[in-house]
Amino acid sequence: MPSDSAIAEVAFDAQAVRADFPILGEIVNGLPLVWLDSAATTQKPAVVLERLDHFYRHENSNIHRGAHELASRATDAYEQARTTAADFLGAGGREEIVFVRGTTEAINVVAHAWGRHHLGPGDEVLITWLEHHANIVPWQQLCQATGARLRVAPIDDSGQLVLEEYEQLLSERTRIVAFAHVSNVLGTILPAREMTELAHRHGAHVLIDGAQAVSHMPVDVTALDCDWYAFSGHKVFGPTGIGVLYGKLGMLNTMAPWQGGGSTIRDVTFERTLYKPPPSRLEPGTASIADAVALGAALDYLTAVGIDRVARHEQELVAHAGEALSAVPGLKLIGTAPEKAGVISFVLDGVAPSTIGRALDAEGIAVRAGHHCAQPTVRRFGHEATVRASLALYNTRQDIDALVAVIERLASRS
Ligand code: PMP
Repeated sequence: MPSDSAIAEVAFDAQAVRADFPILGEIVNGLPLVWLDSAATTQKPAVVLERLDHFYRHENSNIHRGAHELASRATDAYEQARTTAADFLGAGGREEIVFVRGTTEAINVVAHAWGRHHLGPGDEVLITWLEHHANIVPWQQLCQATGARLRVAPIDDSGQLVLEEYEQLLSERTRIVAFAHVSNVLGTILPAREMTELAHRHGAHVLIDGAQAVSHMPVDVTALDCDWYAFSGHKVFGPTGIGVLYGKLGMLNTMAPWQGGGSTIRDVTFERTLYKPPPSRLEPGTASIADAVALGAALDYLTAVGIDRVARHEQELVAHAGEALSAVPGLKLIGTAPEKAGVISFVLDGVAPSTIGRALDAEGIAVRAGHHCAQPTVRRFGHEATVRASLALYNTRQDIDALVAVIERLASRS
């Protein structure tokens, strides 16, 4: 009898998935688009485009306030998206889901609404060496404002966290640990559950930046036991301008309103304001309603395709890309941890990353060349820039082969 994974490999039909994404039919510079820039943003399936269209044609209204039919439709759709996000993350309840603009905003909300009220001189914030700027700068700002100290856990030459050093950096001074579930430069999957457990043992709270994880692998915040988990809709096949901050209800209750305004309040007089409980307290002003609804559709889409099958498909592609690229003379892979998801970074002797990016673009292949908003990570490997090919469920071996063919040509000329 074939094993479960063998059945899943056979059953995953990347061509059928591709047909769900209209933009993948684009011709770029005379050739079919090869999208290898999903770590920057993912493409959107037709169900997401249609859900946005349906909302504006049939449901558009502001939410929670109107006493009319469309207000009910819009409110129901928005709140259903909250339930979908809670189920997707394995949260304890829908009230643990706060809609925000994206991962960056989610991290800033925690730094402001929790950090500024709970940190002081002598306290420490612990991050790792593979963080995106969005998970560095808000903590730097928080430390400057409160007198706390930013500590950084190192990574090794393969891009793995040095767990012993991470553990040594934890102490009773550590108030919060913030780390990426998956590195956007190296693809490293961090041992999030173990890291969270260690942090909790020292009394620290834990925020996980899931921007690069949610589209690649199953995430269960209850199993992880993290205090907060953040992701961006646009990196998981949903629209830009919408994202999710999950927080344990007990933690959300300790967070002050980070912006005053409508939606957050229970009662206002000129003397004082009484706030609603979370999540409303943390969602000031009119939300990105249609985008939240369409994010719900994106999460439903991914769930229907099957995130476990997606993970296996991508693992196979990452292994294929790693093998093919490492055979190219003069090419160095940056990030070779055994536990890797969706991201392949590299440099090529004698050819600038920007030159490689342009050469690929000329053939319709979209990658990113630069520091990927993670300068300390890239510099850790002695570079200012790398080329980054990043994958999603719609990529195929042919996409990787097209990439490798161009790189081989550039290598043979350099
Ligand atoms: N964290 C990581 C690991 C990321 O890859 C990104 C986006 N590149 C972000 C945070 C920021 O996400 P956004 O720009 O959607 O807020």
